[in-house]
Amino acid sequence: MSHSTYEMVVGLEVHVQLATRRKIFCNCSTDFGAPPNSSTCPVCLGLPGALPVLNAHAVALAGRAALALGCTLHPRSVFARKHYFYPDLPKGYQISQFDQPLATAGGIEFVSGAERAFRRVAITRVHMEEDAGKSIHDRFPRASAIDLNRAGVPLIEIVSEPDIRSSGEARDYLRELKLILEYLEVSDANMEEGSLRVDANISARPRSSAKFGTKTEIKNMNSFSAVERALDAEFERQCSLLERGERVVQQTMLWDAVRSEIRPARSKEESHDYRYFPDPDLPALVLSAAEIAALRAALPELPSARRERLRTVFALGAQDAEVLTASRSLADYYEAVATAHGDGKAAATWVIGEVLAVLNHERISLGEFSVTPQALAELLGLVRDGRLSRNAAKQVFGSMRASGEGASTIAEREGLLQVRDDAALRDWIDAVWREHAAEARRFAAGEQKLLGVLVGLVMKESRGRADPKRVNQLLSSRVGGGAEGGG
Ligand SMILES: [Zn+2]
Repeated sequence: MSHSTYEMVVGLEVHVQLATRRKIFCNCSTDFGAPPNSSTCPVCLGLPGALPVLNAHAVALAGRAALALGCTLHPRSVFARKHYFYPDLPKGYQISQFDQPLATAGGIEFVSGAERAFRRVAITRVHMEEDAGKSIHDRFPRASAIDLNRAGVPLIEIVSEPDIRSSGEARDYLRELKLILEYLEVSDANMEEGSLRVDANISARPRSSAKFGTKTEIKNMNSFSAVERALDAEFERQCSLLERGERVVQQTMLWDAVRSEIRPARSKEESHDYRYFPDPDLPALVLSAAEIAALRAALPELPSARRERLRTVFALGAQDAEVLTASRSLADYYEAVATAHGDGKAAATWVIGEVLAVLNHERISLGEFSVTPQALAELLGLVRDGRLSRNAAKQVFGSMRASGEGASTIAEREGLLQVRDDAALRDWIDAVWREHAAEARRFAAGEQKLLGVLVGLVMKESRGRADPKRVNQLLSSRVGGGAEGGG
């Protein structure tokens, strides 16, 4: 980046769809992909006289997320009407929270960048709100269509402080946030289906300055990489303005993923005069101390705590711990293998090397993966005990996935178990000794470099079944007419 005299300052607003089956103020279904306008009723259509009733499950999920993000969960919060006109908002207002939000003052800690620096980004607030409907502009040639299935779907908005200093840091913050939400099971946090949406506030300032520059807001970013690219593009644009002595205008920008460019939104979409006031149809949201304590007590182990615990208990490196906690199901799987097998490092090598390779290659989830942690631990046990070579173990692993049979059963049937029985090993060694008498004599006379050649010949003679470590020992004892004799 050419504008090294400037520093990027970013705050993110993340909208997350809560994983409830019903909408936030009515009993309509939240199923994704239902026929247009089929999941609607007078409440979410905004018909006169319909009254909203708050969904307790949505409150529980929102409170759970707020606590996990380190926020203070307030005993009293207020729903407010946020007024704006849009075709997909028939009521003319969205029910949100304004000056008395559900929760405030939290933060997320994560490592970022190639230097793996430790970062903390403060969270200003977490509030609840309903989603709006959806305008569809590409279905009909001369008309736009409105689908109100999404109207009234429960959301939380997570607003960060402007603590982020680069596009890479924004991506790492979002990755950790998404992971926390997945561990909590409060949302599927799926960006493609719109259950996690990101808006960014960004400004540029001289590195020497402590004062913030004028910010713009970027919308319409549909992936983490879009967030990264949009932030870089907008930062470039702002820096160029500042270098020419021009001013940054506070406005909303849209990211165009197809053209990879940033452009100003129409001014209509910029109005921020929402005329908030408390919704007269909804009482204040009151949470008792006991309810808040129960939510806190039910929090699961969060990704950062789990990484730390896996590192300590199974002596893992930071990088391995990070890979293995990238989803809750993967961490559960790894932990079950490591516990059953006993050697956490060997388990990590297999899960990262073999299991993840299969999942990625076949594009399947752990739920669809046929080898149970116990079955994998049995296979690792055979490798540890020297019964299976690593290559043979990979072959057995492949058969386990196909047949669902146990490792020992397969290894035995396919003749892959390594032979450690000295009598059988000596037979093979003797055969090599006869057929390669010249080499054998030179080795026995002390030509140590022939050891590897002879081990290889014995392995070949045994069609790979001999335990190479034991063959090595038996051969070595023949040097200089040793105790093993000449066969
Ligand atoms: Zn409804």
